[in-house]
Amino acid sequence: MEQDYDLLVIGGGSGGLACAKEAAQLGRRVAVMDYVEPSPRGTRWGLGGTCVNVGCIPKKLMHQAALLGGMIRDARHYGWEVAQPVPHSWRKMAEAVQNHVKSLNWGHRVQLQDRKVKYFNVKASFVNEHTVRGVAKDGKETLLSADNIVIATGGRPRYPTQIEGALEYGITSDDIFWLKESPGKTLVVGAGYVALECAGFLTGIGLDTTVMIRSVPLRSFDQQMSSLVTEYMASHGTRFLRGCTPSQVRRLPAGRLQVTWEDRTSGKEDTDTFDTVLWAIGRSPSACLWSPRGTHGRAGCCSELPCGTECWPCPRVRPQPQGRWMLALRSGPCSLEAEEAWSPFLGSLDLQWWIKQVSS
Ligand SMILES: Cc1cc2nc3c(=O)[nH]c(=O)nc-3n(C[C@H](O)[C@H](O)[C@H](O)COP(=O)(O)OP(=O)(O)OC[C@H]3O[C@@H](n4cnc5c(N)ncnc54)[C@H](O)[C@@H]3O)c2cc1C
Repeated sequence: MEQDYDLLVIGGGSGGLACAKEAAQLGRRVAVMDYVEPSPRGTRWGLGGTCVNVGCIPKKLMHQAALLGGMIRDARHYGWEVAQPVPHSWRKMAEAVQNHVKSLNWGHRVQLQDRKVKYFNVKASFVNEHTVRGVAKDGKETLLSADNIVIATGGRPRYPTQIEGALEYGITSDDIFWLKESPGKTLVVGAGYVALECAGFLTGIGLDTTVMIRSVPLRSFDQQMSSLVTEYMASHGTRFLRGCTPSQVRRLPAGRLQVTWEDRTSGKEDTDTFDTVLWAIGRSPSACLWSPRGTHGRAGCCSELPCGTECWPCPRVRPQPQGRWMLALRSGPCSLEAEEAWSPFLGSLDLQWWIKQVSS
């Protein structure tokens, strides 16, 4: 049977949860639908979205692990008689990080319950303008309807599927924080903040780490700051391969990964062997899970499509004159990525403003 709400939020990440909680506080009947499509490697996680599970939170904990390592090394200069070298256990760190994230998943569920927001762990797709179908992991369907629907589905990392072996053997930031064993010698491909941050903590915990950059690191950032970042990283042991593009990833009989790339300056081909290849080449918005007609689109295919294929333009996602649907973009500090991804649709909309319209 169909259940009716004042507001339906699709996506239980930073944007969606903040939106749902605020609307509930204003006395509205609110439901959140959140579902995590496993990564191509099979990694899955709980409520809270990218920031909590595969973004800001685990990343900062891993940076903290790296910083502590540096402090332990420095400590003997301050009189601490710490035996050197101090080995690091990825397994222990990952377990602690994963347990912390799970506690946050639980915390988010409790917060929704406390505010009487109904949570559905289902994958949402539109049936019509006011009705959404949710499909649970076991295939069970739920129909929900609402006057207002917020799409806050965030984004997922892209794979360079044109590169042989990329999808088969590579991982992304969706996987790195959930690995049970150390990634070992790692090649990080990409030049954005996700690439540099992952390379930073991997280097910091003592792993042999290489960053492969096609052109400019941190392109949209202040370039003086960007140089300071990469110089600092290089001085701490991160290896940078600039002006290079990978062309193939092959698994060797012993299990290691052989990566071939082209050095665009010299035009020469080069190769090296790694334990892990981490693609950090950008993210695609998950809202392309809806087709422009509002019917269920090509779920899960988002990362394989060049952004622009199915996602743009998606007229239904644009703010309509009646103010029915929009993206939860301006809520909390963690929604920048979505904001960037959807900036063509943004205009001057503001979530706080929008919630007030809905509630008045
Ligand atoms: C490695 C990394 C580090 C980062 N570090 C920082 C940082 O330090 N500071 C910062 O501000 N930001 C950081 N970010 C960015 C931040 O994580 C994102 O901007 C933010 O999480 C986006 O929030 P969101 O609510 O828009 O989407 P998300 O958090 O991605 O939430 C969307 C949710 O919707 C779900 N969903 C998608 N489709 C459907 C569907 N059809 N049905 C139901 N549910 C669906 C998704 O599974 C997900 O749970 C980082 C990102 C990464 C990858």
